[in-house]
Amino acid sequence: MSGFVEKPEPVQVPGLVHVHTGKVRDLYRDRDDRLVMVASDRVSAYDWVLPTEIPDKGRILTQLSMWWFDQLADLVGNHVLSTDVPEGAPADWAGRVMVCRPLRMAPVECVARGYLTGSGLVEYRQSRTVCGLALPEGLEDGSELPAPIFTPATKADVGEHDENVPYEEVARRVGAETAARLRQTTLAVYGRARDIARERGIILADTKFEFGFPEESEEDPDELVLADEVLTPDSSRFWPADLWEPGRAQQSFDKQFVRDWLGGPESGWDRNGELPPPPLPAKTVEQTREKYVEAYERLTGTPWS
Ligand code: ATP
Ligand code: MG
Repeated sequence: MSGFVEKPEPVQVPGLVHVHTGKVRDLYRDRDDRLVMVASDRVSAYDWVLPTEIPDKGRILTQLSMWWFDQLADLVGNHVLSTDVPEGAPADWAGRVMVCRPLRMAPVECVARGYLTGSGLVEYRQSRTVCGLALPEGLEDGSELPAPIFTPATKADVGEHDENVPYEEVARRVGAETAARLRQTTLAVYGRARDIARERGIILADTKFEFGFPEESEEDPDELVLADEVLTPDSSRFWPADLWEPGRAQQSFDKQFVRDWLGGPESGWDRNGELPPPPLPAKTVEQTREKYVEAYERLTGTPWS
């Protein structure tokens, strides 16, 4: 079982049409057909959206994405048009909103990995490959790869796992030329971000990007545009560099406290069972919030206010 304990009702805003409720974000279209992405404070773990929110999380993710878009602007254009709260929307949306160019999304989750863990590690243990790419022997959980790799995945519905696919499958779906551009840009952006994070004591183990193309009618419909959220703790694995130690699961910079509490004896919850996870205790909420704040502050070098 997985998904929402209780799926939230979309907020009604005049002029906005609700189009999607993701695990964390809600999507609307405005009158100009722009996409309005609102990051909530919802948190997910073990494929569940938890019944407890992490205060400020949505704002932190949005502000961090905005900061990264800026850092990457010379490498790739992005979809953000504005962060203004649409007229008539709740004041609580301030800082959570990205008003975006509507794009024709490439049907691929563009993942870059510099370190081995998660689904990459599972495949590696079976076949010494990740997404069909051969890797050297002797790597462990958390090992740095000889060079970053592009490990695309296909998008899954809420509650389903994304599926890693070989590069050839991407080429079949989007064409060889687009596939090559997706891979090249993914690795270029990952490399830049990894270096920035590393200077700030954070290992960017892996991350997922989504790209799109402008509508056919626009000036340059072939422009590859970086979309969605970028380089947040929800789309990436951030590890504190000083605690990195291959051969075990790494401390992660974000939901570690949530996972630890849910998986520990106190929660009384069986992650392999049928029942939804229980609410988080206040202490776990506060610790988790502090981790998100710390990630933001360390990366951007700006205090969270
Ligand atoms: P999950 O909560 O598991 O991530 P999800 O991906 O369905 O589920 P969100 O990430 O909240 O939900 O939704 C964002 C959706 O918007 C994604 O489907 C993403 O591909 C899409 N998207 C992001 N940026 C743009 C854009 N500029 N134009 C069109 N679609 C976009
Ligand atoms: Mg998503």
